[in-house]
Amino acid sequence: MKDVNLLLRNNIKKLVPYASARDEFSGSAHIFLDANENSLGSPITPAFNRYPDPHQVRIKERLTQIKGLPEKNIFLGNGSDECIDLLYRAFCNPGVDNIIIHPPTYGMYEVSAHIHDIEVRRALLTSDFELNLAATEELIDEHTKILWICSPNNPTGNAFDHSSIEIILNNFDGLVVIDEAYINFSRQQSFIRDLTEYPNLVILQTLSKAWGLAGLRLGMAFASEKIVDILNKIKAPYNIGQATQELVLAALGETEKVNSMIRDIVRMRNELAEKISRLSAVMNVYHSEANFLLVKIKNARQIYESLLAEGVVVRDRSSAPGCTDCLRITVGTGEQNDRLLNLLQDLEKTI
Ligand SMILES: *Cc1c(COP(=O)(O)O)cnc(C)c1O
Repeated sequence: MKDVNLLLRNNIKKLVPYASARDEFSGSAHIFLDANENSLGSPITPAFNRYPDPHQVRIKERLTQIKGLPEKNIFLGNGSDECIDLLYRAFCNPGVDNIIIHPPTYGMYEVSAHIHDIEVRRALLTSDFELNLAATEELIDEHTKILWICSPNNPTGNAFDHSSIEIILNNFDGLVVIDEAYINFSRQQSFIRDLTEYPNLVILQTLSKAWGLAGLRLGMAFASEKIVDILNKIKAPYNIGQATQELVLAALGETEKVNSMIRDIVRMRNELAEKISRLSAVMNVYHSEANFLLVKIKNARQIYESLLAEGVVVRDRSSAPGCTDCLRITVGTGEQNDRLLNLLQDLEKTI
């Protein structure tokens, strides 16, 4: 593993970060005339006339307890998508560096790379959707800065073999980002425990899936203090709004409710997988450790269109490598899952 500083872009190394009014003041005061806010208040209650905490200290304190990680290893972004974008900004020189993805996988790694003019290299997963280490190794050169691993993977639903990921962590000199957006639905251990061992490891998690807070936009990056400091230095000063901070803090007190939802979703996922696999048009329901199923089904496009005509929207992933005739179906409520099953049963008679 190279020193993180050697991976960093030069302009970021030299960057003098923006100092917000909230950064420059410390101590106690009760009259705040330093940030050009509206001192009279907001047109709505509760008031939102003050800038939010740029360091989201209260949320991090709570996450420290939940995740068992010191605050210095936690970065918060406006969704994981902001964390992805910031990693490119910090480490990848446009037009020079490259990154490696493992398709079929989450689309934002590639889109965000293109936005920053970073070359995307693809090491396809094997036919059983595992990492192909030889293919990955072949693509690595001195300009390879980030290796993206999504586990459990979207859209395939499986978690990768733990030891394959460890081999990558032990051998790759750049950053290894493990996206654990679906980890709460999986039996696999999070890589959080490995952070102390690997200074080049970044773990992404999100409140958008298991926590049921996609609308609030809160993504988390767990990494070495050095990497977290860099992300904090380049983020927009007030990247997490006050409303999000307050609501997230309230939600983080509801772990029991969240755990109960996770149990229900996992149970319904397994039931749905079992029932869908009995349909004769279905060729495969891939093993899922997430809150969705990848289903290989005859005439997938036609099924997709017909479901849509009945007001049920799923994702057609047929164009992704290795996913011919595959639909990605999110686990719904019990009622929604029953409706989907009924529609599929009717549809398979017509195709
Ligand atoms: C849904 C998802 C995310 C979440 O992104 P947010 O910006 O946090 O909502 C991240 N990674 C993967 C693989 C996802 O499927």
